[in-house]
Amino acid sequence: MRPFEYRKSGNVTGAVQAAAAEQAKFVAGGTTLIDLMKLDVETPRTLVDINSIPLTKIERDADGGLMIGAMVRNSDLAHDKAVVAEYPVLSQALLSGASPQLRNMATTGGNLLQRTRCYYFRDIAYPCNKREPGTGCSALDGFNRIHAVLGTSEHCIATHPSDMAVAMMALEAVVHTSGPKGERSIPLNEFYRVPGDTPNVENVLAPGELITHVTLPKLPAGTRSHYLKRRDRASYEFALASAAVVANLEGRRIRRVRIAFGGIATKPWRSPEAERALEGKEATEANFRAAAEAALRGAKPMHDNAFKVELAKRTLVSTLKTVTQTA
Ligand code: SF4
Repeated sequence: MRPFEYRKSGNVTGAVQAAAAEQAKFVAGGTTLIDLMKLDVETPRTLVDINSIPLTKIERDADGGLMIGAMVRNSDLAHDKAVVAEYPVLSQALLSGASPQLRNMATTGGNLLQRTRCYYFRDIAYPCNKREPGTGCSALDGFNRIHAVLGTSEHCIATHPSDMAVAMMALEAVVHTSGPKGERSIPLNEFYRVPGDTPNVENVLAPGELITHVTLPKLPAGTRSHYLKRRDRASYEFALASAAVVANLEGRRIRRVRIAFGGIATKPWRSPEAERALEGKEATEANFRAAAEAALRGAKPMHDNAFKVELAKRTLVSTLKTVTQTA
């Protein structure tokens, strides 16, 4: 680990000011950042500790939706009564991730900013465009079983590891920030960037911009949702493919549906193609399969991860069956 300066702030304004230092990073639960600092993958010169900023509440907003403070721990969010009752997809996604100990530390803001689990990114012996722009991508000709099939580029094929963000994508969450230029609200669907030729730039946050909270819209009465995660082992494992579905039905007809995938793309992957294929249609297995085909039509598998294409399709079909069975 490289030496760094440690600063601490108990309020948003102070934290944003402290983060104006060169190569500064915010630290909250530290469940990703500290690991990566030990590996010399992350080498901030300044750490701004935000653990004492009181962004720890889950509250109703003026529109009846939910406002989640950036410092709300993943365990608290997963077990919150309103989340369990109204946004079960989010609770399920959170509980499918990491371990109880990690969920007790990891925060809402930090979860959104998780870095990839690409082995080459985490090992400084290998070239990696995301870690060191312009050095190359070791995964392209390396072992790429866990890598992405959607949103990739010739410069990076790493998957985004979050489960929570996939559920939030299907819930049409909005990220609220405070930074050197003031406050802003960013729909989660516009928050992440695909790698293109700058895989080191993963989202639209400016340097020193702090996530303060996330809002979830109030859902129409009768909304059903579910998260399904496929992985190599039952716990403490990242997704090979996952799907989040939020749907409203009229009888057996799908009136509205929001679909997002995890584990198969370079960012939490909303699928408007699958949504269009389903809205207005009957909830049948044939229609679910057609939506899954539409979602994966643009997939670009590599030599070790072609299985993810069919796995993702089946994961979506299973999730849609669960959501519509309970309606
Ligand atoms: Fe680095 Fe991305 Fe290639 Fe992994 S896939 S080695 S993160 S550039």
